[in-house]
Formats: sequence, structure tokens, C-alpha cells
Amino acid sequence: MHQPSMSPRPSIYYNYKVHSPWLSESTTATGNPRRQVVIVGNGPAGMVTALELARHGVRSLILTSECQFTQGSRAIVFTRRSLEILQQVGVADRLMQMGLPWRFGQSFFRGQRVFRMEAPKSDDDRFWPMLNIQQQYLEEFLHEACMATGMIEVRWGNQVVGVNQSADSVNLKVDTPSGNYELQADWLVAADGGRSAIRSLMGLGMEGTSYQGQYVIADIRVDLPFPTERLAFFDPDWNRGNTVLMHKEPHGIWRVDYQLPKGESPEEALLPERLKARIDAQLAMIGYPGIAWELDWSSVYSARTLTLPSYSLGRVQFVGDAAHLLPIFGVRGANTAFQDAQSLGWHLAWVCRGLAGASLLTNFSSERVGAAREIIEEAGKSVRFMTPPSIGHEWVRNAVLSLSLTEAFVRPLYHWRTSRPHEYTHSSLNASDDQNARFTTGPAHGAMALNVRLSDDSHLLDHLGGGFDLLWFSKHPVPDEVLRELAMWREKNWPIQVVAISHEKSPVTGADVSLCDYHGRARTIYGVDSDSAAYLLRPDQHVCGRWQDLHVPSLAKVLRQIAQEPNP
Ligand SMILES: Cc1cc2nc3c(=O)[nH]c(=O)nc-3n(C[C@H](O)[C@H](O)[C@H](O)COP(=O)(O)OP(=O)(O)OC[C@H]3O[C@@H](n4cnc5c(N)ncnc54)[C@H](O)[C@@H]3O)c2cc1C
Repeated sequence: MHQPSMSPRPSIYYNYKVHSPWLSESTTATGNPRRQVVIVGNGPAGMVTALELARHGVRSLILTSECQFTQGSRAIVFTRRSLEILQQVGVADRLMQMGLPWRFGQSFFRGQRVFRMEAPKSDDDRFWPMLNIQQQYLEEFLHEACMATGMIEVRWGNQVVGVNQSADSVNLKVDTPSGNYELQADWLVAADGGRSAIRSLMGLGMEGTSYQGQYVIADIRVDLPFPTERLAFFDPDWNRGNTVLMHKEPHGIWRVDYQLPKGESPEEALLPERLKARIDAQLAMIGYPGIAWELDWSSVYSARTLTLPSYSLGRVQFVGDAAHLLPIFGVRGANTAFQDAQSLGWHLAWVCRGLAGASLLTNFSSERVGAAREIIEEAGKSVRFMTPPSIGHEWVRNAVLSLSLTEAFVRPLYHWRTSRPHEYTHSSLNASDDQNARFTTGPAHGAMALNVRLSDDSHLLDHLGGGFDLLWFSKHPVPDEVLRELAMWREKNWPIQVVAISHEKSPVTGADVSLCDYHGRARTIYGVDSDSAAYLLRPDQHVCGRWQDLHVPSLAKVLRQIAQEPNP
């Protein structure tokens, strides 16, 4: 029988609440009905998938083996794109209130500052490039948002121990503190993390590489007067040949992240006296010898770049760490999980609601596997720089590091790329006969919609994402033939709205939402050069068609393509 820990996890800044487990005998009272969607995992990927499904009108049941949120801070750096996704599910404001925003990074080599990274932030961005906040708070805010929908049920302390699927259902065996029960669902979302039981139970292998380097992560409470920036120390005196990273977190906590010397085991590295000596040495190196500090949590991780080759296997869909394991340099774990969840949320909702054929899910899989492969390619470079896997890589890295003391041109090599949204350039949902090629700028096929600050100080993305959005860049009425086409899709229950953007304050006839862009910033950013231009955005805010002169047959064709309907 599964016995999750019922003692609150230790922490010096976070009060863990222990939730009551849901027991197998409750199935008698509820009748244990078949569910449309069951999500295994209550981490960032599982909860954002549930919230996205709810936003698109689909109920779900989350099963989670634990009775508390994650142990330790884990993911602490969230990107602007993640905040845009979290804004859609209603938790970005709470994160912004508590989190620490930043956009600069400093890299030091042997005590000398060699590179200052600056992530851009313009008036058009609602969010900072990065926000630091511990994963427990993120999970708490997501859980509260899930409860507020009234469409998501969570069963704490429910561990999935068996799974098999047929053509029309998935059958689960669930272990609880009072015994097992069986559960049937139309669809299963595997969001059960890096050690995914669903992945193992289905016998699925991952492709990619596991690197040798291992890293200690320690969260300490210490009073340091530094601003919120990413601090990277290459080849420091106390840890020669290795790298140390430091990040500030809310509540006076700092993350210290350093590489283990070759041959040292994780158990040895986490011995209290060894941990203390190394953190003392790091604090002394940054100018605070002997400063008092207190340990909150420590762990060891290794860099892996692994992905399943497909995230959609019949009625089982994979998201987050269950689907891929990515190194945390470049803050890719949770930030990639949000993009998976946002993508699966609308693809699966469209299938569940009968708005599109089940083959739409192969698009989810190919887009997100493509994203993971691109991330793996980039992340592999960062890992090889941080932890050279061979003598050859070590020579190149050492040459770069030494040269950087005198030569400015090599210093940008210190700037490893951070997580960013993937562009679905080759998506099967992109329009095949729109006027993408007539644009010289603006977000192209598969790219993310760009944010723009509007005349009333709101931002364009604040107004989007309930379903499909047709951005109409004109003060002229939306043409009748466009409205007739959209009415047909609305009759089929497709959520689709027309958002007019013009320099006028008055509403545009036929538009559901009219936005004033007095100075024409949106027109410039979207590369619009006519008075009848339009962009079609998917529910995840990626572009799937654009026209300088909106052409209705071409709009109708791309919508049929997304619905997986044959063209007449
Ligand atoms: C030490 C560390 C530091 C990290 N730092 C960063 C960072 O700075 N930035 C970043 O973006 N990412 C970071 N990550 C990665 C990040 O924490 C993960 O990528 C993220 O949590 C993945 O979310 P997930 O929802 O896919 O999985 P998880 O958060 O692992 O959630 C898995 C869920 O599944 C449940 N579960 C597991 N098995 C079962 C089962 N059999 N039945 C029922 N439920 C089950 C668990 O209880 C849990 O609720 C870090 C990770 C670690 C370990």
C-alpha cells in the first residue's frame, strides 16, 4: 500500500501543508465514473495542463503520489514566455508580487569580471526577461488556481502503479494509503516527472545523452547586498577547473550551484562538513569570509539531454520531465514544461470537445518533440562548456577562458542561451496558401505573437488566447464575408474572436474586441502595410496564418486544416 510522507517537509522559509490523501474506499461513494481526462502528476506540467484544459472547457482529474508540494526550491528561474503562459492561467500576478525580476548576468574568470549579460526589456514587454521564485510557491499558486476553476479534482496520495490502453480507453491501477482501485479514462496525460512511472510501465526508451558532470545545489539563507542577477564563476580558486553559479531567491535565500570534483560521489558531496567548507569558500571568494548562513535544502543533479521520440502514444500524452529531461543550465526544465502543457491543453481540448479529429494530437507531439530536440542541441553546447566531456572540449574551453582575460571578442561565449519559445516553422497547422511571404517583418508562421503596449497601457497579449484570435489591423469594418466564415466555425462551437487594432479609439464594426494603437506600434511590429491585413493566432498564441489582404478562402482552408477536416 502506498504510504506518502505525512510529516511536513523541512524548510526555513516555506510552510508545507500536508493534504489529506484520497482513499480507495471513496470510490464506493463516488461510483468511480470514467473520466474524460486523467492527469498523473501535480507538478508544473500537470497543473498547467489541467488549467489550460479547464480554460478551454474540459474537466480533468489530477492524481498525485505525494500529499505536499515539491521538496526544495527546484525550478527558481522563470522566463518571460513562461509568465505570459502563466498569465493566461491566472497566476502571473501572484508570482510577480513575490518574485524577484532580473535581466543582467555577470561572469567571472579567476576573480576577474569578463562578461556582463543583458537580456533586453522594452516598453512592449509586460514581464521582465526572468523572474526568480521558488517552485513551491509556483505550485501553491497553480493549485489554488486549479481549485478556483471548479473543473479540476485533485487526489493527493494516489500513486499510479499500472496502465494499459485499448483503442477507446486507458485503464489505470491506482495505489492509495488504504489500498488499490481501478480507474478508466478517455485520455491520460503523463506529467509524472523525470522518473515517470507511466514511461516505465509502457516500456518507453528515451533518445539523447547523459553527461558525466554532477552538480550540488544548495539553498542557503544569507544576507548579501547584491542585486538580483545571475552570477557565474568559472575556474574559481576554491574549485579549480569547475563552475559555480549563484542566484538570489525571495525570502533572503540564495542558490549556490557548483560542480563536484571528478570522482566524488553525491553522498560525499552532501556531507555537512564538506558542504559547509565549500559554501564558506564561495562566500569568502565573493568578499564575505565568515558570514553567517543557514542551509535550507541541498541536492545533487547531473545534466541530461533526453527526450521520448513521440509524446502522443494513442490515448496517452506526455508533458514536462516525463517527456524529456533537460539540463537546468538555461533554466529549461519547468520553462519547457509550461510550453508543453499550454500546447497539449488546447490540442487535447479541441479533440475532447469534438472540435477537431484525434489526429490533431500528432501535431502536438511533432511540434513539442521538435522543440525538445532544438533545446537539446543548444543545451548540449552549454553543458559541454560548463562540464567538458573530453580532453579536446576541455582544451577549447580553457583557451576561451584564458583568452577572455585579454580579448573582448571571446567573452560573449560565456553567454549560454536561456530557454525561449520554440517557433513551429514547419507545423502542419500553418496555412499553406496565405501571404506569409509578403511580410518583411513581424512574427512568421509558427512564431509567437509579439507583445505590444497599447494606447491604454494594456498589452496586446492581455486580450488574447481564449481560443483562436483573428487580429484585424484596420479601422474599417470587418468584411461581411469574414464574419460569415467565422460564424460557421462558431456554430461548430469553435471559440474564435476578431480583435481589431487601429489608431482609432472608437470600436471597429464587426470586431469582438477593439484595441487602440494610436502610434501604430502594433502595425510596425507586425509588419503590416495595408488596411486589410490580418494574423490568425492559435489558442497558444502562435501564428498559423497571415495576410496583407485577408483572403477568406485561404482563412477557411487553414481552419479546416486545423480541424483535420478534408478540403472540399
Ligand atoms: C534540483 C533541481 C533544480 C532545478 N532548477 C530548475 C530551474 O532553475 N529552472 C527550471 O526551469 N527548471 C529547474 N528544474 C527542473 C524542474 O524542477 C522540473 O523541470 C519541473 O519540476 C518539471 O515539472 P513536471 O511537472 O514535469 O514534473 P515534476 O515537478 O517532477 O512533477 C511530477 C509530479 O508527478 C507526481 N508523480 C510522480 N510519479 C507518480 C505516480 N506514479 N503516480 C502519481 N503521481 C506521480 C509527483 O508527485 C509530482 O506531483 C530543477 C530540477 C531540480 C531537480
